Amino acid sequence: MPAPLRLQGICASAGYAEGPLFDLDRPSAVYASQASAAEEKVALAAAIGKAVSRLTAMVDAADGDAADILEFHIAMLEDAALSAPAFASIGSGLPADLAWRQALDAEIAGYEASDQDYFRARAADLRDIRDQVLRALTDDGGSAVAAGAILYGDDIAPTRFLETDWSAGGGIALKAGSAASHVAMLARARGVPMVVGLGEPAKTAEGFVLLDAEHGTIALAPSPTEIEAFRLSSSSFAARQGKAQAFLAKPAATRAGTAVRVQVNIAYPSDVDGIDVSTCDGVGLMRTEFLFGKTLPDEETQYHAYRKVLEWAGEKPVTIRTVDAGGDKPVPGFTVAETNPFLGLRGIRLSLARLDIFRIQIRALLRAAIHGNLKVMFPMIATPDEYERAAALFAEEQAALAARGVAHKMPPLGIMVEVPSVAIAPEAFDGVAFFSIGSNDLTQYVMAAARDNAAVAHLNSVRHPAVLRLIGSVAAFGQENGVPVSLCGDAGGDPASIPALIEAGLRDLSVAPAQLAMAKAAIAEVPV
Ligand code: PEP
Ligand code: MG
Repeated sequence: MPAPLRLQGICASAGYAEGPLFDLDRPSAVYASQASAAEEKVALAAAIGKAVSRLTAMVDAADGDAADILEFHIAMLEDAALSAPAFASIGSGLPADLAWRQALDAEIAGYEASDQDYFRARAADLRDIRDQVLRALTDDGGSAVAAGAILYGDDIAPTRFLETDWSAGGGIALKAGSAASHVAMLARARGVPMVVGLGEPAKTAEGFVLLDAEHGTIALAPSPTEIEAFRLSSSSFAARQGKAQAFLAKPAATRAGTAVRVQVNIAYPSDVDGIDVSTCDGVGLMRTEFLFGKTLPDEETQYHAYRKVLEWAGEKPVTIRTVDAGGDKPVPGFTVAETNPFLGLRGIRLSLARLDIFRIQIRALLRAAIHGNLKVMFPMIATPDEYERAAALFAEEQAALAARGVAHKMPPLGIMVEVPSVAIAPEAFDGVAFFSIGSNDLTQYVMAAARDNAAVAHLNSVRHPAVLRLIGSVAAFGQENGVPVSLCGDAGGDPASIPALIEAGLRDLSVAPAQLAMAKAAIAEVPV
């Protein structure tokens, strides 16, 4: 009997799963070489075509984000620039599989070397495309995962996630990976337990394992006592989730009857398709940087994206944040390479440095504002001057639209409270319509602990007294001065943090849609 071993990582999607471990990094089937370079080229072209057909079939069965990701993969596979180096290598004598692998590995290495989480996350997309074609070349469907298995490896491809049948349970445990990846987003949306950043185990991981993605651990070769304790935690989690569903339809309130507004955080406009608007109090944060993909979105694309969300929300407020590119969310053609991107040209700093891009977003927001109850906020504000310059740009663009006779409306303008300078001295921000606390960044900056680094995850806690004291003082300042204060960081949806946030004086939280029910249920337990 192998000795038990527990690995600690970062929770990317809460939940529990137990089952056989499936090694994502196992070697794939062997490719049978062709007789000539011409035949090798035909084989590679056919495999790319086969991979595209498989992906197209998956798009038809997918929705929202999943379909977007698959379409992104199809577009990459159909891009001749990606396959050209492989075809050239076949011309110089390499077999199709090796040529394709080498070409894609070179591309992937570039992304992996990045010190920015976003690019490392995109390397997973490229690995996925590489393996799709290799599987097509070897006719290895590759989806022989036992029902309920825990998929374990360095990282996981989005298509592997999408082709896995999660109806029988199962989960994901990654040695590397990122809670900011496409797969993590999909896992949260589908409720598939997922842990990242587990590191290299001291011994081979195999056999029956327990994945506790509420606390971010995986137990290898668990003892009967461990299994029993795990099952207790798992059924308590399931019971809490089941009970929480009853809270979804009702407005949130504490045990003493104090009303708490609960809004949702979204990234893509399509996120709202799966949310019943009556279950939330609006959109507390729309992260627009996800619209800024391979190409920068033009004014019309942005206008339609914002309008879709505003029309979905009806009279309920929709707080759209201007682009927060940089940090862990770089955007090609916009952000700059930096040694320490979390402390660099990020959020409003970058927008104010690239007015050509910022003005397009401002116009799209002003035009979309006529379609609902829009509020706009600026990310990473550190000084009043940044807010004033951004607000002045809104006024300038408004005047220009008015002069051209274009329909528009000026929304209330607020700021994120995620840089400690704002949380410490909020009184400096005269005229700001509202504050929204970004607890993810506020915590990492107060604790000097990167939000995407498993090694310092223990320090990255919103419940540290220093962070809570700052949150409490911003809430008190808002109340004394009639400035609304909400919180849109991930802590707002964490049942373990909710009591402390309410205790700190917050009455307005914005959470991931999948956390809505659990957040409302946790609020109902708070005594105040
Ligand atoms: C935050 O920092 O808490 C926040 C909501 O913004 P983001 O996670 O997008 O940086
Ligand atoms: Mg932030």
